[in-house]
Amino acid sequence: MRLDKLLANMGIGSRKEVKLLLKKKQVTVNNKLIKDGSFHIDPDKDIVEVDKKQINYQQFIYLMMNKPPNYISATVDKREKTVIDLLAEEHQHFKVFPVGRLDKDTEGLLIITNDGDLAHQLVSPKKDIEKTYYAKISGKVTEADGQKFTQGVVLEDGYQTKPASLRILESEAVSKVEITITEGKYHQVKRMFEAVGKQVTYLKRIRMGDLLLDENIKLGSYRELTDAELNYCL
Ligand code: URA
Repeated sequence: MRLDKLLANMGIGSRKEVKLLLKKKQVTVNNKLIKDGSFHIDPDKDIVEVDKKQINYQQFIYLMMNKPPNYISATVDKREKTVIDLLAEEHQHFKVFPVGRLDKDTEGLLIITNDGDLAHQLVSPKKDIEKTYYAKISGKVTEADGQKFTQGVVLEDGYQTKPASLRILESEAVSKVEITITEGKYHQVKRMFEAVGKQVTYLKRIRMGDLLLDENIKLGSYRELTDAELNYCL
């Protein structure tokens, strides 16, 4: 990898600023002064220092966000605020993207990374990764609804959903449930409840596979995945 690219990737500065740093003789590789940005380094072996401070190169970054409402799960948008806008500059420069989509009004667990392979593991339809959502539903949700979900319901476009499981937490005028699905069709949970004549009024993802939403993360905040959590995804 080029030295200037590594330094820019690590947020040391823009390409222009990095060029200046190199010119000002502030960068060493294995204790040798390097002024040429095109100098090739091995990020796993070479020791890069700026102003005598070692730069620990990190290629991939993995973040767990508690997505707030009113932000879309995209990297850029002309009109809407995106989840990437919520990240500090030091994380944005990794060219991260959200793994899978949550609706604009959906809250909860969202993984943000720049590791395409890991993203694929989590969203590939072949992997059947379970996703659990906490939902508020207008109307009384019944065990009969749960049985329909177990068998699969037919959505308004004719699509038959795969078996899903429903846990009823409260069955009142506004019911509270947890629903677990293995697919990720557009508006899937909302459309599944519509298929049984009910409406989702609040939706929050709380689990993806073995990854649980850390409830200590405030809405709109995020943190890096722990090593244990990262292992769950691999
Ligand atoms: N199902 C939905 O309807 N919306 C989401 O955001 C996620 C799952």
